[in-house]
Amino acid sequence: MTLAELQALERDYLMPTYARQPVDFVRGEGTRLWDAEGNEYLDFLTGISVSQIGHCHPALVEAISEQAARLIHVGNLFYTEPAMRLARRLSERSLGGKVFFTNSGAEAIECAIKLARKRRRGGEIVVLSGGFHGRTMGALSATPQEGKQQPFAPLVPGFRVVPRENPVLEEVVTGDTAAVLIEPIQGESGIWPVERGVLEAARSLCDDAGALLIFDEVQCGMGRTGSLWAWERAGVRPDVMTLAKGLGDGVPIGACVAAPDYSDGLEAGDHGSTFAGSPLIAAAANAVLDVVDDEGFLAEGRRKGELLRDGLAALGLDVRGAGLMLAFRAEDGPDLVRRALLEQRLVLNAPAPDAVRLLPPLTVSDEEIGQAVRRIGALLG
Ligand SMILES: *Cc1c(COP(=O)(O)O)cnc(C)c1O
Repeated sequence: MTLAELQALERDYLMPTYARQPVDFVRGEGTRLWDAEGNEYLDFLTGISVSQIGHCHPALVEAISEQAARLIHVGNLFYTEPAMRLARRLSERSLGGKVFFTNSGAEAIECAIKLARKRRRGGEIVVLSGGFHGRTMGALSATPQEGKQQPFAPLVPGFRVVPRENPVLEEVVTGDTAAVLIEPIQGESGIWPVERGVLEAARSLCDDAGALLIFDEVQCGMGRTGSLWAWERAGVRPDVMTLAKGLGDGVPIGACVAAPDYSDGLEAGDHGSTFAGSPLIAAAANAVLDVVDDEGFLAEGRRKGELLRDGLAALGLDVRGAGLMLAFRAEDGPDLVRRALLEQRLVLNAPAPDAVRLLPPLTVSDEEIGQAVRRIGALLG
């Protein structure tokens, strides 16, 4: 089918929720994508921080193919080894407690909200302005953005918003607070790191108030910022963390991971999800972790993050972020992104009108970083 035919199908048969760019991709390998005409692109977006180890990594393809031929789904009324192994691995490598698997980031947030609400009935959940936690009604209620929330009112009650820059948490975190929910580096609002002092204050206030500190690592986790979890870099440990995006390199998986003290808050019948933790998906996530959860690999990510940051700074750009989760200020971000795609065959994204976001695979090469920087330089003229 031609691009025009695909666009006609979209117009007639898909709810118009996405602003798609006019390219149909048919193949991917590493940092590279190819469209139907055979043009080659550099992918510095990775489906929004999803293809963490690049497109069609051989180890991932093998794990998926092997598991697909053996058993794809059986449901959570039975045991399967890939899910149990993945849960142990995520726990041992993070908070030491238990895991609930989901199919997406929003669902991981839903689980965290239910865990916090059940533990402290009626308690408020404090969120920061600029945070993004997903589109389902609970996650949306935790996402204080007028345009996203307003058409869907009434929202789930019990969320309190404080400003990211100066949240004065001591005024809102009390014995009635169920949780403080923070994205350590806000991705969707434009790559805004939350100051370490804010994370530390949240930690100590949650300790005093007996509230849960929840970090949403859906976008900034899985090695994106140079450590496996962004909270490791910040040196502030949450009670609960949510994962998704890069955990499966493109297969749909999310997880809500709790510290031991909070791991048994949800009991049989409290929560569930038909597809979550299927052997196929868990086998894929195990294969991704085999690559990402390696100190040498993470150190390489940090080095490459610096290389990309330095390259952009040398173009005179105002860069922010951490590791390979970067953005730069741009006068007309959406236009720059469109021109990058169509003129330079470089895939980027504009999370805000004045920002361009870069989320290359962690496997990106030095040469590809150089190419991307040169292409951006060409666009800036
Ligand atoms: C993308 C994102 C979500 C939502 O994940 P979905 O898989 O789209 O539901 C939640 N939190 C953060 C930080 C995200 O970046």
